[in-house]
Amino acid sequence: MRKHFHRVVAIDGPAASGKSSVARELAEEFGFVYVNSGAIYRAITWQILKKGIAVEDNDCIASALKSAAITCCLQDNESRIIIDNVDPTDHLRDHCVNENVSRISRFPLVRQIVAQKLHELARQHDLVVEGRDIGSVVFPDTPYKFYVDASPAVRLQRRAAEGQRDEIAMRDHDDSSRSVSPLVIAPDAHVIDTSHLTIERVVEEVIARLRAMGLHVSS
Ligand code: C5P
Repeated sequence: MRKHFHRVVAIDGPAASGKSSVARELAEEFGFVYVNSGAIYRAITWQILKKGIAVEDNDCIASALKSAAITCCLQDNESRIIIDNVDPTDHLRDHCVNENVSRISRFPLVRQIVAQKLHELARQHDLVVEGRDIGSVVFPDTPYKFYVDASPAVRLQRRAAEGQRDEIAMRDHDDSSRSVSPLVIAPDAHVIDTSHLTIERVVEEVIARLRAMGLHVSS
């Protein structure tokens, strides 16, 4: 782990694999800050769509990003994103965001901005960060890496139970096949299939592994 970063637990996995619930519980257990990196990609996507920029228009996206003020602040030990002084939290799961977020997140500049925000947070706090490339690219040196998965059928059921329209198969395909920071299992990640497990069971399993690795509650 690079010296200037605090401790980081990386929880990667595809859409609806259960990583948000697991990451949030872990953060609470260890007293770390919970960071949903997908929310930052979603906020950027929402902003680009709100400005009416076409999702294929690299140049316009780049200039919009250069002038955007993106801040990650903390609320109840969770990171929250503010973009151009607006809190987009209520819009992050809008269907148009679900539909376009994978297209926006393949731009190297977007990935660079998000990685920079995550690094800034890790310089100040112990973190549990969920995403797609946290253990493989953003914090490759952390020893605390998990890849949480579930069968496509179970993941679809979970999204439907949340009442969301979300083309997770399309996002999985786009996220796994992009050239920059694709969704991959880091070679040193602990892989957990949550298809037939409750969230409580997964959390217990992850906590046991982290404790065995010597991770302690922050003081
Ligand atoms: O985690 P969530 O499903 O909310 O992420 C939304 C999208 O953000 C993903 O489908 C992916 O395109 C992008 N993402 C990413 N890298 C991350 C986190 C999310 O590319 N670390």
